[in-house]
Amino acid sequence: MQKTSSLILAFILFFSGTFMVLADNIFTPAETQQISIATPGLFAKSQSFSVNFGNMKPEEYSFPLPVGKAQKKAPYGMLIKTQEGDAVKSMFNGTVRLSRHVQGYGRTIVIRHRNGLETVYYDLRGATVKVGQNVKAGQTIGIVGESGECCVEMMVNGCVINIETILSLHTHKLHKKTLLFTNAGKSVKIKTLTESSAAESEDLPDINIELDKEFTSYEQRVVSAPTQDLFNNKSSITLDFRKYTEKQWSFPLPEAKVISQFGGGRRHSGIDLKTKANDNILSVFDGIVRFSGKYYGYGNVIVIRHSNGLETLYSHNSKNLVKAGDKVKCGQVIALTGRTGRATTEHCHFEVRINGKYYDPNKFFDFTKRSLRPIKITVYKSGSIKSE
Ligand SMILES: [Zn+2]
Repeated sequence: MQKTSSLILAFILFFSGTFMVLADNIFTPAETQQISIATPGLFAKSQSFSVNFGNMKPEEYSFPLPVGKAQKKAPYGMLIKTQEGDAVKSMFNGTVRLSRHVQGYGRTIVIRHRNGLETVYYDLRGATVKVGQNVKAGQTIGIVGESGECCVEMMVNGCVINIETILSLHTHKLHKKTLLFTNAGKSVKIKTLTESSAAESEDLPDINIELDKEFTSYEQRVVSAPTQDLFNNKSSITLDFRKYTEKQWSFPLPEAKVISQFGGGRRHSGIDLKTKANDNILSVFDGIVRFSGKYYGYGNVIVIRHSNGLETLYSHNSKNLVKAGDKVKCGQVIALTGRTGRATTEHCHFEVRINGKYYDPNKFFDFTKRSLRPIKITVYKSGSIKSE
């Protein structure tokens, strides 16, 4: 039994998205009594976690009272007007942490969700769930009382966050974006990483190799793998960075300084970029994560394959925020800077690869201006490249 549950646990951890709190069915007495209380372990591994509200499936989210009319309840909550006896639904999958009468709130239910958020529902007539019970998004958890109103708040680590950063009171829908939640002691800072609608950048002007295909087991196991079908029957491919708009690329580590160049005596396979510990590393182009994990001296490393034929690699990360197979947008935070693997300081070791070979990143980027070079690059099957 123990073994089965830990296997399931490992399975869930492996396949969960960027981050997840394991909703523990056993809460401390304080957790079952107090609405506002820190979530144990939430920031244990990293000071930040992100939730992508843009790729949630319909069954993963529910507005708490689909028939009601929502308005803001100062400062950060919402009040939904409906009718006595209406069913209140859990907003996401989770576990009931608190279900009791709380002074000043009336009948209250708190759900701890697997995505790191908690939702609070209060001023109810009664609950249909009990503490420790797992609930699904859309499952009825409580009943609206004679006021005909239900109040809802959202919390991260016991701190109330503005519910309007997550959803629209008007449409009842989640904002399609990825939010980064950062521990700031007694509060939580929220930053928008990508707006899905804005990030629907057009395909890159070059090559457009197919990214929907499944990676081979070799491609999933190693950092350096050739790109199948990159050349097909052609002897060369071209990349024309002059055609790229601002929306189509992003510098991997904003404000970074180069602390170690490509090449040199130690045949450095990339360039080392430094800002500070646990800083956001961004995907350079749209793409699909081919590799995310630990790899020898690289430590925690991410390799992203882009439709223009390039692969970019980001390593020594304190934490990878995306997993193999994830689609990423340019500018999306994919990892946090660290010093895992062979590294003596927190930095991002950045590589540009084509067909499994690494190239001098300076050929593609101007690291002084932190920009993409406005040039046309021809890459030959032999591996040589020409810039003009
Ligand atoms: Zn390096």
